[in-house]
Amino acid sequence: MEEICPLYYETIKYHPARMVAPPGGHRHFAMAIVGKVKYLGWNNRKTRPQLKRQMPDGSVLAGHHAETHVLYKVPKHKRKYIKLFVMRVTKSGKITMSKPCSHCVESLLTEGISEKNIWYTNHQGEWQCLQDT
Ligand SMILES: [Zn+2]
Repeated sequence: MEEICPLYYETIKYHPARMVAPPGGHRHFAMAIVGKVKYLGWNNRKTRPQLKRQMPDGSVLAGHHAETHVLYKVPKHKRKYIKLFVMRVTKSGKITMSKPCSHCVESLLTEGISEKNIWYTNHQGEWQCLQDT
């Protein structure tokens, strides 16, 4: 796992975001790597107009997923160079499925990020590439 991604479990184990209850009960982390610079994002309740979306039940959500949280931390002109890694950690600390939702994938592709540079952890806690799914 470390070979593909520097988002080691150790990096996030004691992250402050893990100490507060995440939306949906699970904590997602996303790391964007641009050259040698690393950016970290996580799911949270901060809103952004671009993220406003209507859910199937009619409610409107505008909270950040980890992927979009980290996306907007990266300067716009550098976003197309992002290599993105998304990980979900359960309350007990298990790494599990963290495939980006369709809303996030759309935002990522719109910013010019390539599917082959988007990685997420699967149910086994192994890295999987979005391009291969
Ligand atoms: Zn999402």
